[in-house]
Amino acid sequence: MFTFANMNYTLTKKEATVDADEFISRYRDVERIAGYCRQCPGYGKTWSCPPFDFDPATVTDGFRSVTVTGTTIEFDEETRAACTSAQQSSATAHEAIIEISRKLLPQLYEQELQHPGSRCFTFRCVLCPEGCTRPEGKPCRHPELMRHSLESVGFDLVTMMHDLLGIDLEWSQDGSLPKHLTIVTALFKV
Ligand code: SF4
Repeated sequence: MFTFANMNYTLTKKEATVDADEFISRYRDVERIAGYCRQCPGYGKTWSCPPFDFDPATVTDGFRSVTVTGTTIEFDEETRAACTSAQQSSATAHEAIIEISRKLLPQLYEQELQHPGSRCFTFRCVLCPEGCTRPEGKPCRHPELMRHSLESVGFDLVTMMHDLLGIDLEWSQDGSLPKHLTIVTALFKV
């Protein structure tokens, strides 16, 4: 059980390793997913989100296998009950995702080091507490640390997580805090 400020949650991890070509043919659909990205308020607001100055359809080519990990945050009932507005729910979910993403990143860097030539993908970039430089038209502060998310380069996370890990991603439909939130990360290995 982890406690940050006024929230409590438990973490569980599920992982699957699959052939990279099969993974791409089943779950990569760059045009369709880019359409969803264009509707997102964060579109173009960070350097880790599209539009890109590279072709997202090629960055996951040339790998042999992919290990996908779902890290699921399960909030306790007290934390969920304390979120009495959509704004509170959103802030709590955001805080939990940022905290966990920042803990996962060093582990992913370590995995990249252990597998030369590999590349990891994670949640959208949360490295700069002061906000991303992209809206100001300035370069990324930490290009060597920034990693993209799988959806930003065209992967269908909903179908992938259901098929590979039996996880159905949840969102709040009514402003309440979902019981579960899952952070999807992946390591592509040569
Ligand atoms: S490291 Fe900072 S500047 Fe670079 S993409 Fe992430 S938030 Fe933006």
